[in-house]
Amino acid sequence: MLSLTEKSVQADVFFETLLAQKTTTNSWRISTAADRIVRLKKIQNWIKVHQKDLHLALLSDFQKPPIETDLSEIFTVTSEINHAIKNLKAWMKPKSVSTPLPLIGTSGKIFYEPKGCALIIAPWNYPFNLAIGPLVSAIAAGCTAIIKPSELTPNTSSLIQKMITELFDPSEVAVFQGESDVAQELLKLPFDHIFFTGSPAVGKIVMKAAAENLTSVTLELGGKSPAIVDQDANLKDTAEKLVFGKFINCGQTCVAPDYLLVQETVKEELLMELKVALKKMYDPKFEGIEKSPDLARIINDRHFDRLVKSLKDGIEKGATIEFGGKYDSPSRYIEPTIISQVCDDMTLMEEEIFGPILPIKTFSQLDDAISFINSKPKPLALYYFGSNTTHTTKVLKETSSGGVVINDCVIHFLDLEIPFGGVNNSGIGKAHGHFGFLAFSNEKGVLKQRVGLNNATLLRPPYGAAAKKIIQSLINWF
Ligand code: NAD
Repeated sequence: MLSLTEKSVQADVFFETLLAQKTTTNSWRISTAADRIVRLKKIQNWIKVHQKDLHLALLSDFQKPPIETDLSEIFTVTSEINHAIKNLKAWMKPKSVSTPLPLIGTSGKIFYEPKGCALIIAPWNYPFNLAIGPLVSAIAAGCTAIIKPSELTPNTSSLIQKMITELFDPSEVAVFQGESDVAQELLKLPFDHIFFTGSPAVGKIVMKAAAENLTSVTLELGGKSPAIVDQDANLKDTAEKLVFGKFINCGQTCVAPDYLLVQETVKEELLMELKVALKKMYDPKFEGIEKSPDLARIINDRHFDRLVKSLKDGIEKGATIEFGGKYDSPSRYIEPTIISQVCDDMTLMEEEIFGPILPIKTFSQLDDAISFINSKPKPLALYYFGSNTTHTTKVLKETSSGGVVINDCVIHFLDLEIPFGGVNNSGIGKAHGHFGFLAFSNEKGVLKQRVGLNNATLLRPPYGAAAKKIIQSLINWF
């Protein structure tokens, strides 16, 4: 805990850094695509050189398998950089728009100017990806940034600080590590944009703080993302995709399928396929899943205890463990667990699970599954497994979620051409690719009028019969 004097010194440092960054934004505002690409390439090269350091940091933080670090921390960021480099010139180019009839003679354009200085607050579950991914969008848009990485992944957060210190002056990009009090102190400052990734509860705190300065926000939040498995789904294929999407990062993924809604006639067969897929992926040599080098661990004791408590709560209230259920406190290991006979008053069905436990609920009619989803806050992602196009369209039209994947899960995070983000409780605003660039840009409308006589001159006072006629015909026309 910092003393009051240390806190005030820290607050001064934050303020001085923001002031310095505000000065930088003046020159970064007029930076070209080539200038920004140089900055992005610096990050890309650093990552290439420090791939092993990243493996080690994430391994130390929560035994994240290096190959999962490659896929979900490194590749996700480098592909975001490559995509930005490829498209930046086109994204930055002012966009001409058509001229409406009443303004004939004018020309309108949309300019994309950097918002200015951004605050990026990151969570622990993909600690590198979710701190540096938004930074790539910020830099592409021409913004400076202050990053507050998660305190729960100290090794990765220190490596992020090392990278930023080596590549940027603090007046361009800076990192401040620490607990939530650091984030709260930073949130008092008048940033030009805040990009927050984390829980809905903290998202509300961030939005309230942003309101004090009328700072715009992107909130990438969480929640319970359902997966519907319909009667005509290919069950082997579905099970393999669900096992990968649920248990990557040990279930600590914002878009992991939180629970399954399975059509009742295919429940038993799906369960069998899920068990086969789990064994195949995490216990191919029959040595026990705990020996698998491909399964990460729970981030800390608090989350471990929370998950075990939810599991016990489910069992006490009548749920059945179909697979797994073992755990080991010293190593924070929780076996991938599938649980059925769940009811709505169980913690597992009330709160975001964020761990390797997968509850299964059945439905008879698709309408029942849709009603169940619609009775809950809008999820970050919704997954539908099935081949009936009428059913697919029905799910798409009758539900609301941040994103949807049909016949797979989680992989939409990798598609930089579609927006990524939530809706209401699962988030505000979108990220990735062009959508990330737009989040950090002010879309400035610019209209150029000609000098001298034009349509608008006819509408000035004193209003005569001609003006009245023109306005009336405009009303009638539109
Ligand atoms: P969290 O909300 O607890 O913490 C996120 C960040 O906010 C951390 O840097 C933390 O220091 C800071 N913070 C915590 N309390 C704060 C407070 N009172 N005031 C200001 N800042 C505070 O989230 P987490 O536990 O790190 O991450 C898990 C959550 O994030 C889950 O809900 C998950 O679904 C969500 N998530 C969403 C996405 C997405 O892209 N939508 C991605 C990853 C995680």
